[in-house]
Amino acid sequence: MWVRLNSVWADAIHGRPYPDAAKRLLGEMMATVVLISNNIKHDGGVTLHAVGDGPIKTAFAECQGQEALRGIVRLNEDDPQPIHEAMNFKELIGSSRMALTMQFKNGESYQGLVSTEHEMLEQNMEHYFENSEQLNTTFALDTSTEEITGCFLQRLPSADLASDLTLAQDEAEWVRLVSLFRTIHPGELGSKDIEALLRDLFPNDSIRLDHPKELRFECSCDRERCSKALKTISSDELRELADENGGIQVTCEFCGTRYDYLAEEISAGFIT
Ligand SMILES: [Zn+2]
Repeated sequence: MWVRLNSVWADAIHGRPYPDAAKRLLGEMMATVVLISNNIKHDGGVTLHAVGDGPIKTAFAECQGQEALRGIVRLNEDDPQPIHEAMNFKELIGSSRMALTMQFKNGESYQGLVSTEHEMLEQNMEHYFENSEQLNTTFALDTSTEEITGCFLQRLPSADLASDLTLAQDEAEWVRLVSLFRTIHPGELGSKDIEALLRDLFPNDSIRLDHPKELRFECSCDRERCSKALKTISSDELRELADENGGIQVTCEFCGTRYDYLAEEISAGFIT
C-alpha cells in the first residue's frame, strides 16, 4: 500500500509558523495514519499522538473514514529548543510517549502504545507492528518540499494448517520481498511514479494496484463541539473573559476556523 500527500499536507500546514522539520514530521504522521487506516479498512478514526520533551511537545495526526485527514504540532513553548532541518523524529520529539488509537463507530476504542526508541518514525511503526500485532511490516517514508510519500509492506498470515515447508517458503518469500523493498534509495520513493518504482523493485512479481483514492483535509470541529468545550469552563470565568474582550473568540487549532460568542450570550449563560 502506498500514499502520496501533497495538497492535504499543504492544507494542514497552511499558515502555520512551524519550522520545516516540524512540517515534515506532521506529514509523516499523517501519511502513517492513512496507511494504517486503509490497510485495515477501518471506517472510524485512526490517530497517532506523540507527547515528548523535545523541541516538539505534541504531534497529532488523524484519519477519519480512511480519507479525511487533519493534524497538528505544538512546539515546546515552556522550554523552546532550536529545530534544525536535518533533525530526525527522535531528536524532534525527545523522550516521548506515542499512542496509536482506533475509534470505532460504536463509540468503543482501542489504543496501543508505540515505542519511540528508534530515530525514525517508520522504524518505530515497524517495531510496533512486529511486537504488538505480531505482523511483519516494513515502512518507507519520503519527504520532498511539497510531497510526502509513504509505502507499506505487510506480511499476510500463513494459512492455519500450513505445513512446515510452506511456512519456511512463506518466510523466505517475505525476506526476499523486504530485502528488495529496502533497496529503495532515499529520495527515490517520492521522486518516481509509484507503479514504475514497484515494477523496478519487484521485476519478477505480479503487481496489482487499486485505483488511487482521493484524500482530503477535513476538520471535525463545529460550533456545537466548541460550545461544549466552553461549557466545561466555569461561568464566572467565562463572563470575566467575555467582559475583558467584548465576547469570546475560539479558533480551532487544526483548521483555523473562528467561533465567535457575544458577551451578551455569555453573560446570559446562553452558549449555543
Ligand atoms: Zn477545525
